[in-house]
Amino acid sequence: MSERTVRVRFAPSPTGPLHIGGVRTALYNYLFARKHGGKMILRIEDTDQTRFVKGAEEYIMDAFDWCGIDFDESLVKGGDYGPYRQSDRKELYAKYAQQLIDNNKAYYAFDSPEELNELRAKSESEGGVFTYSSANRDDLNNSENIGIDAAKAKIESGEPFVIRFKMPKNQELAMTDIVRGDVLVNTSTLDDKILFKSDGMPTYHMANIVDDHLMEISHVIRGEEWLPSMPLHIMLYKAFEWEAPEFAHLPLLLKPKGNGKLSKRDGDKLGFPVFPTQWVNAEGEKSMGYREEGYFPQAFLNMLALLGWNPGTEQEIFTMDDLIQSFSLERVNKSGARFDPEKAKWFNHQYMLETNNADIAEEYSLILDKKNINYDKELLVKIIGLVKERANFVNDLWEQSYFFFEAPTEYDAKTVKKRWKEHTPAMMQDLLEVIKSIDDFSSANTEKLIKAWIEEKELSMGQVMNAFRLSIVGAGKGPHMFDIIEIIGKQETLNRISKAIDTIKR
Ligand code: GLU
Repeated sequence: MSERTVRVRFAPSPTGPLHIGGVRTALYNYLFARKHGGKMILRIEDTDQTRFVKGAEEYIMDAFDWCGIDFDESLVKGGDYGPYRQSDRKELYAKYAQQLIDNNKAYYAFDSPEELNELRAKSESEGGVFTYSSANRDDLNNSENIGIDAAKAKIESGEPFVIRFKMPKNQELAMTDIVRGDVLVNTSTLDDKILFKSDGMPTYHMANIVDDHLMEISHVIRGEEWLPSMPLHIMLYKAFEWEAPEFAHLPLLLKPKGNGKLSKRDGDKLGFPVFPTQWVNAEGEKSMGYREEGYFPQAFLNMLALLGWNPGTEQEIFTMDDLIQSFSLERVNKSGARFDPEKAKWFNHQYMLETNNADIAEEYSLILDKKNINYDKELLVKIIGLVKERANFVNDLWEQSYFFFEAPTEYDAKTVKKRWKEHTPAMMQDLLEVIKSIDDFSSANTEKLIKAWIEEKELSMGQVMNAFRLSIVGAGKGPHMFDIIEIIGKQETLNRISKAIDTIKR
């Protein structure tokens, strides 16, 4: 690693909600910065005004707040290298473009969109692809062809122009990417990219390089889709005679099945979120978010950390501190990482098991309050301890525990058919009498006495317990029966058994 102070950035364009691939990029930047005692910067790249989406910038910041990735420098935090939004830096790019023109590294071009379309169509009809490059720039409408004075006269007369990078001809460019290793490109295969647009705004390439330089970025860690831009970016650093950062291009996130990039549309199509938090577009259409689906932010980040990076061990559950300790760009995989929605749930389940029951109770109580359910706080913590192993999310807890709070109003038909036989009501009546006689209603004591009764009467344990469960829960599920009745209490247990005897019809 170079000796530079580590300064990394996440540089989203506010063109919509943040894809989880973007969150993963931010996470890897964050882990790298924290590991090396460096700084993590959030820079909003909004030079393309045509793609601006209202609310996207706020969305991005809120999503990071939720998942717990904090930035050292940003719009909100401020910092010594601001402004941190490119549209607020608009004025400063022109002088760098001018510097390239003055040093013969860039040129003015006047080709109209119509002219370029015609050239493209012509190349296509001949089976080729048009690129604006060292091979043809001398024949096109630019200052390289007509001369700088003629070009300046055109500009003065108000003719629209762009500034293009003058990609050198036939140079072997050797580059190193931390993830992919050595990459070799001949510059003749690269085109003369536009750096400055006719609307007076820099393009992504220009603004990105100038800002990374001015913000003293040491490592550019970003998605694989930017790998093809690396040669241009390195050539720009050379043209400016600036020290280039090191680059690391992260593998794509792939669809759960089949090949291809996990797209923004996949989530709603396949029923899992691809965004950290819910997004509502201008038409009011909602896209699911991990937050709203009930994921713990730490589980979400833990899951993302392992999509494209491997610790080299079997360990899967990492605290943020563990991740910071273990993370290295050298262990980022080259090949794409398949997203697995079931595994995402598994991670949340693991965090559910790890999380303190009192903390889960805090969240669960919000759901209970909405349902107007009364509960005792201490009992709630106990109930969570009994059922959480059956839940992936706090949102699942109701389904696994409603019977602690209210008597069943209906009985699952399949379970009735299987577990409620002709002789069952009489058997439940006997059980009712046994329960009436029990004073110490602790789980251990009811278990001892009821089991002793079953044995003494030579009844089938399965038949009694299944019908008992159906009466209390309304279905064939739930934790240990004697734990349930300890919590609901003797009177409620008796009521539910009586009600079942009266209402269950085979
Ligand atoms: N604004 C670019 C994006 O939206 C940033 C790419 C980079 O990190 O250089 O992904």
